[in-house]
Amino acid sequence: GLRIDFIDSKYSVEEKKIKYIGVISGKGGVGKSTVSANLAKAMQRLGKKVGVIDADIYGSSLPSIFKLPIEPLSTTEDDEIIPADADGIQVISPEFFMPKNQPLMWRGPMLGKLLTHFFENVVWDDEIEVIIIDLPPGTGDVPLDIHTFVPDAKMILVTTPHPNASHVALKAGLGAKEMGHEIIGVVENMSYYYNEAAKSKDFIFGEGGAKLVTDALNVPLLIQIPINQPLNKDSYLFSLEDMNGKLYLSLAKEILSKF
Ligand code: ADP
Repeated sequence: GLRIDFIDSKYSVEEKKIKYIGVISGKGGVGKSTVSANLAKAMQRLGKKVGVIDADIYGSSLPSIFKLPIEPLSTTEDDEIIPADADGIQVISPEFFMPKNQPLMWRGPMLGKLLTHFFENVVWDDEIEVIIIDLPPGTGDVPLDIHTFVPDAKMILVTTPHPNASHVALKAGLGAKEMGHEIIGVVENMSYYYNEAAKSKDFIFGEGGAKLVTDALNVPLLIQIPINQPLNKDSYLFSLEDMNGKLYLSLAKEILSKF
């Protein structure tokens, strides 16, 4: 009897397999966190229950993008973390656990431990279907750690159109590929400025950055997102009715179709 129960419960866990999406970039400032957050919002609009893990430990910005107060998250009696709630999107970030304005030197080792905690001791909503992981830029230790926790995470690579950015993006992509992660494709952010008056796209940062990466990695260019003012200037979450918001909706559909 016991044995059968064990097998049954294993099956039910497998049926509810969570889709893990890692968002990576070669360097900081290209919009990786912005893409992670807006993608989460778009997937929620598509009816998914979404969680976001802020693993960009030194460049943490998700709590501010989601306008979440920086205060300790609740934990269960067993020291399990209960994520913060951003209008239905579940978010965990080291920011919630760190006293403000601590030097990075002190934070480093603690943050490493916290990440382990994030992958092993979080009580997500039962309905959670997708977990987006905002990874640190580059090819450092954290992506390696993530690989041990979620080896089947599929990756989205964010770059800007400038050749310098795409050169380092390629390195990050090759690193992820080497670890055996499928790269779903490339998001080119800040691709162009949409000139409302002329109804034309101005490629102010140059062109072809993403193509360099997609060609070398043999993956698709998923979308080009223009430079745009968000509706809410402090949080950088787009309204899904905006130009960029609509782009994120189609990006979300495309990504979900890859699972
Ligand atoms: P990263 O996570 O790669 O370090 P962020 O997501 O923090 O980058 O974005 C860096 C800055 O660029 C932020 O101030 C963000 O609001 C801005 N940004 C990101 N994408 C766009 C865009 N498409 N148009 C205009 N500003 C953007």
